[in-house]
Amino acid sequence: MEERRPPQFRLRAIAILLGGICCDSGDGPAGCTADNNAIDPVAQTPSDRVEVGGTQIWRVRWDNPVVGAQYELPSIGYAIRQGYAWHYNKFDLELDLDDADPAHRLYTWPSFAGTYGDDEDMFQFESHGMKLEPMVDGEALSSIATASGIHDAWNGPELLLEDPLGNTEGRFQLDPAVGLVPLRVVVLHGGPLTAPGFFGPALSAGWLSHNSAELLIDDRWEGTKLTNTMAPYFPDFVETEWTHRPGTGQVASAPIAGGGRHMQPDRVFDQCDVQFRMLSYHTCQVPPDILYDSQCLGSLGQTGHANTVRNYVAENCDVPSDVAKVIFVGSLAGSNCFDGTLNGAQVRNDVLITNMFAGKTTLAHELGHLVGLNHTKTSGNLMAPGSGIVLDEEECSTANAVAHTMQAAYWD
Ligand SMILES: [Zn+2]
Repeated sequence: MEERRPPQFRLRAIAILLGGICCDSGDGPAGCTADNNAIDPVAQTPSDRVEVGGTQIWRVRWDNPVVGAQYELPSIGYAIRQGYAWHYNKFDLELDLDDADPAHRLYTWPSFAGTYGDDEDMFQFESHGMKLEPMVDGEALSSIATASGIHDAWNGPELLLEDPLGNTEGRFQLDPAVGLVPLRVVVLHGGPLTAPGFFGPALSAGWLSHNSAELLIDDRWEGTKLTNTMAPYFPDFVETEWTHRPGTGQVASAPIAGGGRHMQPDRVFDQCDVQFRMLSYHTCQVPPDILYDSQCLGSLGQTGHANTVRNYVAENCDVPSDVAKVIFVGSLAGSNCFDGTLNGAQVRNDVLITNMFAGKTTLAHELGHLVGLNHTKTSGNLMAPGSGIVLDEEECSTANAVAHTMQAAYWD
């Protein structure tokens, strides 16, 4: 029998996974140098490490923190990133999450473009889409999510990564300063609609997929591993295809139908410690004249149609009415209507976003209304015309208070 080479992975800085690690400077044991190790190397996840009754916990102000660690790659393996695909050989590395999405689930992979040769090297690996829930009032050890690193080498057994102190788990909590707004996403489909001067194409149930919605609201993205069974790689050669996230600029974006992009509302509302959580995802087939508004009904117009959509969904789409809905529709008035088109609307406790005319800040803007914000004329403001994303202190104070109220109504 062929001798299996034992795992030789050395962990230099996995402190992000580790609640118990103690290191205040770079002088500690290997693995203790990354005192800021819960920070996303791309997006700078904001967090503080606190100690509660001897337990080290990362208090995070993103409800979907990026968690990851630096890993020292041994000489026996390599990984190459080509486009959004990573190609691995001879090892496997994942994070096992246990969070508000109650199942443990494995997430991969590294974070930045690069090529790793046969030499030892350092690289980041990370996981997107951990879901934190609000702490229970007065219970400092409540709502803790955990992450553990797992690796196997040469297709060997999976092993837990541990730091030099023997810690194998990182612990995370949502900072109480954050107000978490629960949402249910509803994607309407149907059509086509042909009316004088207006055409609305048929939309399939998947025009905004569950994955896209999770990416947009909860920053969940991952690579899907593909195992190459061809000699001479079998069984160790692994390929990963990213589900997405094309480009992470200052404000990350997610694809929407029609080639546009929405900014992730969480990244827009970081400035107010307000975050949004998708509790569930629904699709609903509706008549073409619900999906699209081509009527330009004078006194009713866009607003009338928005109400019609909102009421239709409430009565026909079998979506719980306990929290706000984000309803993705085709249009809210045809492009030739005298009162123009709406990119989105907030109707009572729900938000409508159009497929045809939404801009990148439409979703965040309408969610701004949902958390109590009114329009302003200040240029560059999220609530002003245009595509600004700034919110001032007073707006943040309002949004945060409303978000906490909405959070309490669902979670308390
Ligand atoms: Zn508005």
